[in-house]
Amino acid sequence: MKRIIIAIDGPAASGKSTTAKQVAASLGYLHIDTGAMYRAMALKVLRMNIRPTDTEKVAAMAKDTTVRLVSSNGKVCVVLDGNEVNDEIRLPDVTNMVSPVSTVPAVRTLMVKEQRAMGCDGGIVLEGRDIGTVVFPDAQLKIFMRADARERAIRRKKELEERGVTVSLDVLEQEILERDKIDSEREVSPLCKADDAIEVDTTHMSIEQQVEFIVSKANTIINAPQ
Ligand code: C5P
Repeated sequence: MKRIIIAIDGPAASGKSTTAKQVAASLGYLHIDTGAMYRAMALKVLRMNIRPTDTEKVAAMAKDTTVRLVSSNGKVCVVLDGNEVNDEIRLPDVTNMVSPVSTVPAVRTLMVKEQRAMGCDGGIVLEGRDIGTVVFPDAQLKIFMRADARERAIRRKKELEERGVTVSLDVLEQEILERDKIDSEREVSPLCKADDAIEVDTTHMSIEQQVEFIVSKANTIINAPQ
């Protein structure tokens, strides 16, 4: 059975994570949340009290840092310098720091190298901003997800409330738009749709519909004669 690479890109809270996780489970593939890796870097920048605009310091820090995604008991753990940081990387301070940190080329070089090593054998679903354009431009299936900013803010609010964090919808929408802007306008690997990616607007789609759509596209490719 062919084991393909599935690249899912899109802006913040467009539905990538939940969908990618379920697509991977349905196909028996590994799921890689590349945003979690950039979040771990941002957490370290915060901890070390480095300004994200101080790109030399951020780059020096990145060279001394390891970020790994480790599967244990069916759960993927984000490990920063040997310590699990799954919950901390979702804190609002990290969310606000991650886009500026992700603009630093040295950070991206390290993360992309790690992601390519994890995905080179196929059988993997990677989600992020630059998977179909930079990390795996030859991925057999590329999806670009979009959704209205308000809808994305509603989803993020729900997610945060489940973690006991309350933030106003307007503030969340503003933060999401700000992150989209930095991610789309940065010089290195900006967020953009690969020419050969299939665009999916998830505003009015359920998670089940998104998963079904992607799994069906994947199966068509997997079952096609060589
Ligand atoms: O997916 P998530 O919202 O957790 O991603 C957090 C941030 O990490 C993004 O806003 C973006 O700045 C950065 N990121 C990136 N490239 C990726 C994945 C995430 O620059 N492949």
